[in-house]
Amino acid sequence: MDSISLINRAEQQHHLQEEEIQYLLEDNSSSKLLFAAADRVRKKYVGDAIHLRALIEFTNICANSCFYCGLRCQNCAITRYRLTEEQIYSLAQKAASWGYKTVVLQGGEDAFFTVERLVPLLRRIKELDLAITLSIGERPRADYQAFKEAGADRYLLRIETTDKALYQKYHPGMSFENRLRCLQDLKELGYETGTGVLVGLPGQTFRSLAQDILFFKRFRPDMIGLGPFIPNPHTPLKDAPAPQLLPALKVMAITRLLLPDINIPATTAMEALTPQGRLKALQSGANVIMPNITEGQARENYALYPGKSAAAPAPQNLCQELEQKLHTIGRHIGTGYGGHKHSEFSF
Ligand code: SAH
Ligand code: SF4
Repeated sequence: MDSISLINRAEQQHHLQEEEIQYLLEDNSSSKLLFAAADRVRKKYVGDAIHLRALIEFTNICANSCFYCGLRCQNCAITRYRLTEEQIYSLAQKAASWGYKTVVLQGGEDAFFTVERLVPLLRRIKELDLAITLSIGERPRADYQAFKEAGADRYLLRIETTDKALYQKYHPGMSFENRLRCLQDLKELGYETGTGVLVGLPGQTFRSLAQDILFFKRFRPDMIGLGPFIPNPHTPLKDAPAPQLLPALKVMAITRLLLPDINIPATTAMEALTPQGRLKALQSGANVIMPNITEGQARENYALYPGKSAAAPAPQNLCQELEQKLHTIGRHIGTGYGGHKHSEFSF
């Protein structure tokens, strides 16, 4: 096996075997070639437009205790908050007035936000002519259906890892089967469905990352968000080794080669880890950015991992600043909703 021929084949045929993906992940000598190939595939299938999604982090209250996450319910070191429906709506209004075409409502698994509370809010936000993405974790199918009928278009739910033993270890009280059930329900209900994994969890192997990528290939999501795992000092994984950008970028680039027409965000965790991390991601297969428009203390307190809030510039000058940065790499901000544009080919 050699990396260069694997990269060439993946660029042409969009298929690799598990051992081939693992080999590419282990061998760092051809990373630059891998990123360049992913960039070409991105350009060919989804073009130079970068789609913006305005991220609203509306609650940091969470019933779960994922080992890696600062919002886990056992963490007493953060101040908990929950925005009111009016505050959420007003942020969505601002997003629309700044020209965003999508808002992402993200939060912990917070039982306060029942169907009865969220449905009227989603209906109102929909009137602003915005695509709505939800990222609020696991819910019964009936809830997903109600949100969809109220106007939600997309849903982000990372599988986090497809290594079942690792999943169970880091998600006490949760089940891998239920996570899969949620993803299946979302797809069947007609959501544009986004998933993804953390890269660099303690105990995660290159083999299991290769299996994650093959899971994406089988599940055929519309979006895939990948981020480096960044140890949070207020969680059980606080002593994990220092995080690295390279493996996450490589998983992302291989994902682009194998699923050429999907949407892939340059994630905040990439930017938090390395200055210009987001720009590097955009040149290695990514075509979406999710600027954080959450304001004030809430933004500080949505502390999934260290460095997160500092990674994002202030909302007011976001578009201008971004636009300038994107021009330097020959890209521009997309003007439409930026949904998944299915290619005429099947992969
Ligand atoms: N509660 C929802 C959405 C909020 S968490 C959910 O779990 O789906 C959003 C994402 O943040 C998670 O999917 C996880 O992959 C990521 N995340 C949490 N802690 C992290 C950490 N320490 N480093 C990097 N990403 C993290
Ligand atoms: Fe809650 Fe999501 Fe964090 Fe898990 S990853 S603790 S579900 S906010």
